[in-house]
Amino acid sequence: MARADILVQFDLHGILPTPQRLEIAEILLAKPQHLSADQIIDRLRQSGSTVSKATVYNTLNLFGECGLVKELSLDPERRYYDSSTVPHHHFYNVDTGEVTDIDEDQVSFSALPPLPKGTESHGVEVVIKVRRYCAPLVRAGLAQLVEHIIRNDGVRCSSHLSGTISKSAARNNRGSDRGCRGTRDQ
Ligand SMILES: [Zn+2]
Repeated sequence: MARADILVQFDLHGILPTPQRLEIAEILLAKPQHLSADQIIDRLRQSGSTVSKATVYNTLNLFGECGLVKELSLDPERRYYDSSTVPHHHFYNVDTGEVTDIDEDQVSFSALPPLPKGTESHGVEVVIKVRRYCAPLVRAGLAQLVEHIIRNDGVRCSSHLSGTISKSAARNNRGSDRGCRGTRDQ
């Protein structure tokens, strides 16, 4: 988004422009995306900016409170800032931290509970948490799996996969096993 357009958005959302706020907004509003404060700080540093971490956090809080961006609390350790404020849903990959948009019309509800007394709906947002699927790892390690069954020295794959794989299979497939808790060497 061009600086002139950002200034219009600041005005619409009641945000006083400062050089630091403009720097941060230029990164976050460059395209539809979801960035954490740390990712924004990294990009600021890459561009030679000296904006302090505290200023970044304060500015992002301000942007969220004023409705310029949407805050996403998908992870207890990390808050994301969404440059798109139109209603939509998200996929959240718990292994990689990747956040992906889902169009609002791709999710429907057959029933919703009655609202608590004295409240009105402020919107419904769905987060579908995903993780890497284990099966390709097991397929790739089939030979080692057979070897493990014979030797009975394997480790157990994740909870959603009842099979076991050998330690050598896990080693051979390092990088593919992030979703498979327990496949790493102990
Ligand atoms: Zn989004």
